[in-house]
Amino acid sequence: MTTTTESAVDWIGRAATIRVPERMIINGQDVDAASGTATAVFSPRDRHIVATVPDAGTADVDHAVEAARTAFDAGTWSRMPPQQRKRVLQTFSDLVEAHRDELALLIALEMGKPVEIARDIEMKTTVACYRWYAEFADKMNGETPDTGEGALALITREPVGVVGVVTPWNFPMTLAAWKIAPALAAGNSVVVKPSELSPLSMLRIAELARQAGLPDGVLNVVTGNGPTAGRALGSHPDVDVLAFTGSTNVGREFLRYSADSNLKNVWLELGGKSPSVVLPDADLEAAADVIAGNIFFNSGQMCTAPSRLIVHAAVAADLTAAIVDRAAKNVVGDPLVPGTTMGPLVNEQRLRSVERYVEQAAVEGVAIATGGCRVTPTGAGAYYAPTVLTNVDPQSAVAREEIFGPVLSVLVASDVEQAVRLANDSDYGLGASIWTRNVSTAHRVARRLRAGTVWVNCYEEGDMTVPFGGYKQSGNGRDKSAHALDKYTELKTTWIAL
Ligand code: NAD
Repeated sequence: MTTTTESAVDWIGRAATIRVPERMIINGQDVDAASGTATAVFSPRDRHIVATVPDAGTADVDHAVEAARTAFDAGTWSRMPPQQRKRVLQTFSDLVEAHRDELALLIALEMGKPVEIARDIEMKTTVACYRWYAEFADKMNGETPDTGEGALALITREPVGVVGVVTPWNFPMTLAAWKIAPALAAGNSVVVKPSELSPLSMLRIAELARQAGLPDGVLNVVTGNGPTAGRALGSHPDVDVLAFTGSTNVGREFLRYSADSNLKNVWLELGGKSPSVVLPDADLEAAADVIAGNIFFNSGQMCTAPSRLIVHAAVAADLTAAIVDRAAKNVVGDPLVPGTTMGPLVNEQRLRSVERYVEQAAVEGVAIATGGCRVTPTGAGAYYAPTVLTNVDPQSAVAREEIFGPVLSVLVASDVEQAVRLANDSDYGLGASIWTRNVSTAHRVARRLRAGTVWVNCYEEGDMTVPFGGYKQSGNGRDKSAHALDKYTELKTTWIAL
């Protein structure tokens, strides 16, 4: 058992001795790429190499899909009695919880999230997700509608077969769990391709699933690049469903792969540019705490980051000042040092992208209220200061595009109508929040905001019982809750003559 809650853990010491998984798991076996090639995983903390993992190609994806199909057809999991399947998934959840610290450390090393945040937030939600869907394994009932006396109709829910899962690096454990847990509970076989930037925690999860007694071939992990391994999985004719979380542009690619192969269902959780609408009667201190807390969380690398503040002119100056004040309280630094609130961006490429957005905005006349520059708390690594931009034109790139860094764009509205119009003037529709003390204004505005989740006087409240997903180009379908099972099951109707 490695669970530890005290804050005095020597994470740097542990990082020096941790065993890092470096082989893929296909059909229950540890394997290298068929080509023999491997690729380095760099730590964004200080750019050192944490591990070298197989660089999977088409042959490896074929191998994994074949293993998944063979397991599915054999029924070792898909036809296992549901109570038994539940017990295996419960054991698996116990193991994930027991290895919470170790998995949090792998997350911190591979993508730079402060390790204690990885443990207390990301691993907590991951364990909750695996446990919640384990309970569903023996609670998926069919229906018998009243169809009259001549014939009986049975509506049964069946696993779809082989599920491909492709995930990003920003929450490598939670986002994978949101897909893997319901897919396994429903009896499917799964092939996961984690981001090439953060494959280590996923490889460890597959080891734990094997240890829990998941039959061979039911959970396979291939490590590799998007345009090779990701594309091979998305285009595979024997993958029945592809569940993707990542950028909107790559989501488009998966729809193309499906159209050009077997028309598999493609479920997409994509990017966002989530607005916070703040009205003059709002509790400004609470709004400042929550908006600053969330735009800088995970160094701004969050799909639901509240990256657009749409504030009424009457309170714009006060609220901006309060957020700038909170920004200064962040501790940007080494993700392995307790007390760090913001680690590095995932790599130099992402940092350069953030820098370019801010530089261009400055040329266009935007004011940088705080931040707007890289910082070097560890001497190396891709660290960026919490940044607030004011005087932002609603048509500019920093108002419309997903920056995916710790950058808040402040837009000013003169009334509620303009605020709602600005909030909805986006290609995205993932999250939104409304801040007001007036209950009827809160309800009316919440109904008009085009987003999958609307928070009123809060942000990022979430629970396994509620669905999560986007409108417009933020995606389709829903993760979490019983609704997610719709993605991984087919409804079959069987007519029986009476
Ligand atoms: P990304 O789209 O670059 O990569 C995601 C995954 O797709 C990775 O595994 C990558 O290897 C793979 N991939 C990349 N190019 C591919 C291609 N041509 N074909 C097949 N696979 C390919 O995204 P990212 O940089 O890893 O993550 C950041 C993005 O994810 C942001 O846009 C963010 O908003 C989004 N995101 C969305 C949610 C959500 O739930 N809506 C959650 C987290 C992140």
